[in-house]
Amino acid sequence: MKKDKIHNIRHSLAHLLAMAVKEKDPEVKFAIGPTIDNGFYYDFEFSEGFSLSDKDLKDIQKRMKKLVSKKIDFVEKEITEKEALEIFKDQPYKLELIKEFAQENKKITVYESGSFTDLCEGPHIKNTEEINTDAFKLTRLAGAYWRGDEKNIMLTRIYGIAFETKEELGEYLTRQEEAEKRDHRKLGKELDLFCFSSIVGAGLPLFTPKGTVIKEELQKHIEKVCRNYGFQTVITPHLAKIDLYEISGHAKKFGKELFHVSSEAGHDFVMKPVQCPHQTQIYASRPRSYKDLPIRYMESEKQYRAEKTGEVGGLNRVYAITVEDGHTFCTPDQVKNEIIGLVNIIKDFYTALGLWDNHWVSLSVRDYAHPEKYIGEPEDWDLCEEMLQVVSNELGLNAKRCEGEAALYGPKLDFMFRDAMGKEVQIPTVQVDFATPKKFNLLYTDKNGIEKHPVMVHRAVLGSYERFMALLIEHFAGAFPLWLSPIQVRVLPIADTHKKYAAEVFEKLKNSEIRAEIDDSNETLGKKIRNCKLQKIPYFLVIGDKEIEDKTVTIESRSRGNEGSISVDKLVEKFNKEIKEKK
Ligand SMILES: [Zn+2]
Ligand SMILES: [Zn+2]
Repeated sequence: MKKDKIHNIRHSLAHLLAMAVKEKDPEVKFAIGPTIDNGFYYDFEFSEGFSLSDKDLKDIQKRMKKLVSKKIDFVEKEITEKEALEIFKDQPYKLELIKEFAQENKKITVYESGSFTDLCEGPHIKNTEEINTDAFKLTRLAGAYWRGDEKNIMLTRIYGIAFETKEELGEYLTRQEEAEKRDHRKLGKELDLFCFSSIVGAGLPLFTPKGTVIKEELQKHIEKVCRNYGFQTVITPHLAKIDLYEISGHAKKFGKELFHVSSEAGHDFVMKPVQCPHQTQIYASRPRSYKDLPIRYMESEKQYRAEKTGEVGGLNRVYAITVEDGHTFCTPDQVKNEIIGLVNIIKDFYTALGLWDNHWVSLSVRDYAHPEKYIGEPEDWDLCEEMLQVVSNELGLNAKRCEGEAALYGPKLDFMFRDAMGKEVQIPTVQVDFATPKKFNLLYTDKNGIEKHPVMVHRAVLGSYERFMALLIEHFAGAFPLWLSPIQVRVLPIADTHKKYAAEVFEKLKNSEIRAEIDDSNETLGKKIRNCKLQKIPYFLVIGDKEIEDKTVTIESRSRGNEGSISVDKLVEKFNKEIKEKK
């Protein structure tokens, strides 16, 4: 197996980490030590009475640097199961792995570096002189279950990061610092956008009035765009009989991720994991003709997934997800145009937010080796995959074919963006589905009076509101554009004598549907301005003698500073223009 140099450096540092830890705790038990994005980790079970704190990481790091300077060779050796069982006789985790390898008839290799031997399939660097001692750092300690299973023992994990050069490490750390400042969990609290309650439960975010404004503005915007395109809003309940998902195939697909709800009266429901099956039943409620198609439904409603308890956190992993979801029912010849129309909506939406420049598109097709993972006919799949490829070419999307990434019922175009941490997030999606309409026996009569199945196109533009808000908070570092800002402008009277006029200005703004606040506290102007900046309010208006005399306000912009004096009417006009343009 050939891997690049940085992988080998990171992997070798994991071994050096184990060596350094062994110097401190000679009886330590080793679990595994793989590479990860930007670095590596190793999991340990310490001997009784031994423990580490963050302080100790510095010392272990120092020991690692010392080991690097000793120019230690990494030597690969293939050994038999019997030899392996002897070498690792005091290492229970390694023994477990060795027995598994033997069962799978995998060859067993070890790497020796100095006095240390690790069960490992490599590859590694040849000698520690390939490691730059200024380009790695141990970052933190964490708990981790053996094999990620909470029924197993909790081990101690030590994380490290590593690069080829000191500069790369420096850049990474700077980026990380910036990302921490932008972290949506931190900003969500500081800007009072959402919260959690231990009584409500983890994984169930509560949106405050300010956070709700952002969600509602997003919803208004996306629904307007989609309504202009022909979508109609529908409402469906959060519960359904399991039968619905047995027909759609979601019962099998989500399995343990479904929430079940029952009552003493004998009800037995599941919380909906997706919206599509409910919407098919609105389509099915009346006879449909080819003249009615395409029919487009959308809703921004909650879906529920029973994520593993340890995996929820912030807005990115939650149990109740508000999904902006839509479905088109159309004839096979309408599909191509429909995909083009939907991709254009996605493009416009993300361009306006400044996110489009930094995207790539995945043409997510099936895993050809495992057809049993999907529903539907192979011919339909071929047709859909071909169609998406054609659209990608025509629109210049340059989509990358990703095998095994398709949905249960069909292939899709997935749009990927990078968040503030540089991590990839997949949000919008357009999916072609011949299978679901057949499963639910959805029909329309064609020109010749023959009954046929429509095609279903699933689409999400902003997807989950929770994840999208996390992305936006981090993308804008909390400084939302005017149209999304919970508070758009704050009025700041300098002294008591200015409060009456300030209140008039505030009333006028409120009546013009501008989200305004007034700070008529007795704080100094400097303090009031600082508060505006901390809350990242896009504009504030300073009111003093001159403004009262001229019947104006002085505008200060968050990003551009003083913008001079202007009448309130002109100010409202300026705001409305900026809100409409969504800059
Ligand atoms: Zn290794
Ligand atoms: Zn759907």
